Amino acid sequence: MAPPRYAGVVAAAQRQDGTADIHEVVGERLRSLDQLYTTGRRQLVTLLVGADRPVTIPELTAAHPEVALSSAYRNLAVLEEVGVVTRILTGEHARFELAEEIRGDHHHHLICTSCGRVDDFSVPPSLERSLERELARVLEASTFTASSHRLDLVGTCGDCSTEV
Ligand SMILES: [Zn+2]
Ligand SMILES: [Zn+2]
Repeated sequence: MAPPRYAGVVAAAQRQDGTADIHEVVGERLRSLDQLYTTGRRQLVTLLVGADRPVTIPELTAAHPEVALSSAYRNLAVLEEVGVVTRILTGEHARFELAEEIRGDHHHHLICTSCGRVDDFSVPPSLERSLERELARVLEASTFTASSHRLDLVGTCGDCSTEV
């Protein structure tokens, strides 16, 4: 039997041990790719764990002046390359968050096209399940193998929509 074209992100996210220490997971990932988990990289991961939404590099360095801009760019590029960090492109600035696989969750984004703000949001598990069922069905007729899906809502955030 052919492997399913789409095993589903929800199952994948749930396989991640929720109690695993994120730094341990990130350190292992980097070492397996011959990269070091340097102080600067660890600092960025800590900040991303504490962020309540995807952040831009200027936001990060404004809130944490101890983070040097140039090393933030460099280290986030490395963390993205090894799959620890996800880059979200929304226009002016790229935003960064911990990869779902590292966070052990699955979520979607609300993207404001006016100010560029991005918030995480989750849809009910029942919707995820029907989404995955339908997507798997669509892919049956395809040679494409999916590992995850992305679903963003694009529009105007509360702050922007109340402005006159
Ligand atoms: Zn906005
Ligand atoms: Zn989903």
